[in-house]
Amino acid sequence: MARYVFITGGVVSSLGKGLASAALGALLQARGFSVRLRKLDPYLNVDPGTMSPFEHGEVFVTDDGAETDLDLGHYERFTGVSARKTDSVSSGRIYSNVLEKERKGAYLGKTIQVIPHATNEIKDFLAVGEDEVDFMLCEIGGTVGDIEGLPFFEAIRQFAQDKPRGQCIFMHLTLLPYLAASGELKTKPTQHSVKELRSIGLQPDVLVCRSEHPIPEKERAKIALFCNVRPEAVIPAYDLKSIYEAPLAYHRVGLDQAVLDAFGISPAPKPDMTRWEDVMDRLNNAEGEVRVAIVGKYVQLEDAYKSIAEALTHGGMANRVRVKAEWIDAEIFEREDPGPHLERFNAILVPGGFGERGTEGKIRAAQYAREKGIPYLGICLGMQMAVIEAARNMAGLPDAGSEEFDHEAGKKRFTPVVYHLKEWVQGNHRVERKLDDDKGGTMRLGAYSATLKEGSKVAEVYGTCEIEERHRHRYEVDVKYREPLETCGLVFSGMSPDGRLPEIVEHKGHPWFIGVQFHPELKSKPFAPHPLFAGFVKAAKEQSRLV
Ligand code: GLN
Repeated sequence: MARYVFITGGVVSSLGKGLASAALGALLQARGFSVRLRKLDPYLNVDPGTMSPFEHGEVFVTDDGAETDLDLGHYERFTGVSARKTDSVSSGRIYSNVLEKERKGAYLGKTIQVIPHATNEIKDFLAVGEDEVDFMLCEIGGTVGDIEGLPFFEAIRQFAQDKPRGQCIFMHLTLLPYLAASGELKTKPTQHSVKELRSIGLQPDVLVCRSEHPIPEKERAKIALFCNVRPEAVIPAYDLKSIYEAPLAYHRVGLDQAVLDAFGISPAPKPDMTRWEDVMDRLNNAEGEVRVAIVGKYVQLEDAYKSIAEALTHGGMANRVRVKAEWIDAEIFEREDPGPHLERFNAILVPGGFGERGTEGKIRAAQYAREKGIPYLGICLGMQMAVIEAARNMAGLPDAGSEEFDHEAGKKRFTPVVYHLKEWVQGNHRVERKLDDDKGGTMRLGAYSATLKEGSKVAEVYGTCEIEERHRHRYEVDVKYREPLETCGLVFSGMSPDGRLPEIVEHKGHPWFIGVQFHPELKSKPFAPHPLFAGFVKAAKEQSRLV
């Protein structure tokens, strides 16, 4: 049965709980243990699928089609363990399950309450797959004391109580603010945060203290004393240049040792850190730099394209170059010529997105990349825009567009080269959709396979003709435009196995122009860069030698 580590946060949000959890997962793996990571989010949305990227950052999609928090992306990038639907839950999901059961009469006439009905639902979620791994790491979103988080804190308290002694531990992240005037690190907020935890029955076993300044031994001892934690379990966490330093950095300050000690695992197996040493070697010893323009809509918030930024870094690691990514607001190209903005870049990436705003600018960016022979990677909406560009400017369809924008505007303005997907095949069954379906959880989501055309650029990049990638889209390039577009040189080089859904397009004769209907960034790892990102950065590197 798995041992559980519950990870909570206090004092302020954005302390890097997700990263600390992911790094701990990597460290336990380095010692030979199997792990799974989970996220419990206190918000009331059933899942983050309907939230704006400005609100919540990127939506991370799992193989089995769940729309989840971006922390699950960190978990996968650090451990390589594919997350599942059962690894992410929100208050909204918990309450919706409870209410559904209530309507079905499953509670046999009882009064439904947070304790025990909501907490039991949370405990059931925690227990899924507990026999499959050595360690289950469960991160609670938000900070201790948040009203919405209380049922989760109560549930993990009960869960640990239900298990044999020593089966569950609690790790708490806090912040030590630095007062420049007196030159001091302050421990009081940490003390208060732990006091808050203890008032709801949770005693942390390990404290991770974020700090911008070195934590003197004296302060560490003080925190240990006041928070009732062993001094060696007070772990300093300093800012890092790269997130991929986290496993090595946390190992140096004894995080994995403290966790194993808390479980009484002794002697602990020695860690093998070669994977992370190699990752750091590639990061630190890059030769040269390539510049990539990311032409998108959600450019003010980097978290909105988290996995793309990370996958580009991985692509750089594969080619031993640094990737300097710059975010450009696509709307600029609706007013101004893209040339002066884009000419200093070695490659152009147009990411996924929703809604019409900025799309004309993305189409112009695709046109610029095609005409100038600059490497282009179009992801999801970025592929759709590349197809529309080719339809308008090469295939003689000046009104080519996407039904998505017509639906949004409530009028028909475009020839629907990209149309609203009404049905597709998933495994052995047919999925059907209508225009007025619910918005939540109804897109074509999760892993689907595609067959690549032999001899195509993309088959060369992947080194195989059978692939499986994660999807998240409602609209699709209409296969009836395949022939006229292929006649003009836009090759449909990847299709769904039934041949009905275009998955990949590429421009014949262009050095590197690929559009994909899926999200390759979600599967890239620092120790296993995704072939499309490795290939894209390689093409950018070659382009940089030309200029
Ligand atoms: N809005 C487009 C669609 O739904 C693209 C989605 C995306 O880029 N993830 O098909």
